[in-house]
Amino acid sequence: MAILLIHGGAGTFTAGRDEAYEAGLGAACEAGYALLTSGSTAVSAVIEAVRRMESNPEAFNAGVGGAMTRTGDVELDACVMLSDGSAGAVGGVRTSRNPVLLADLVRTTTPHVVLFGAGAEALEKDPVANDELKTPHSRAELERWQASTRALTGTGTVGAVALADDGTLAAATSTGGIVGQYLGRIGDTPIPGAGTWADARTAVSGTGKGEAFIRSVACKRVSDELAHGATLEAALHTTLTGLVTADGSGGLIVVTSDGSFGYGFNTPAMAYAFRAPGLSEHGLSRSAGVRIVRT
Ligand code: ASP
Repeated sequence: MAILLIHGGAGTFTAGRDEAYEAGLGAACEAGYALLTSGSTAVSAVIEAVRRMESNPEAFNAGVGGAMTRTGDVELDACVMLSDGSAGAVGGVRTSRNPVLLADLVRTTTPHVVLFGAGAEALEKDPVANDELKTPHSRAELERWQASTRALTGTGTVGAVALADDGTLAAATSTGGIVGQYLGRIGDTPIPGAGTWADARTAVSGTGKGEAFIRSVACKRVSDELAHGATLEAALHTTLTGLVTADGSGGLIVVTSDGSFGYGFNTPAMAYAFRAPGLSEHGLSRSAGVRIVRT
């Protein structure tokens, strides 16, 4: 059974941009699902959905339009992971419009799992200046953060999880991080187990306060809970509670090898979309909690 579930971040979304989010989510989910239903692999589908969202600066915090550091730079993180255990990730990338593609190159062309900074950028075939990744919106967000006393937050990180007809699973996540983060900060996104995870049982992508995802190994926790007999609903609840214990909040999307899927968040809103046989939906949910779309 082909299933694709994506997210476009969890948190407090900028007012007046719902249409941009919804259009971006719908288009990315369609593009990924079209691959999945025409015989492509789960990993192709998640990369395509994430790549589309990275290439949409109107809506998302990934690729062009990624959140800016307090020094006014854009540093991007991304990860790709498959049910066969292969994984690739990049952190602190300053010259790529589509870091998810670099993450997959780490997975497929190097003996490593995570490459940082210049080493990751060396894989980029079409590098751009850091300024080209900045948008009027991302500059305005940094100025808003500088003028306020609000805590560091990120919204608009993107991710996707897929189950292909052949039973294989894949997860991908990409982000600019959080507005006003320190230069050199690495979030949860490129850390397998924290912000992205796939194994023979599950594919999971997270979004929210990265430090809490790292401290609670949130994405892998969903799989561990299932392995210990929890339902998907209970596994998501436990993981979200673990984020709070780790001083954070966020959202997660999950698909399992037996075709169940759902999402959960404990932030004010989460942007999501999914496609599965007979099922299609996308939007911004403002009902925090856990939703199992298919058990
Ligand atoms: N998890 C991302 C980070 O901490 C931010 C987000 O998902 O909004 O880098």
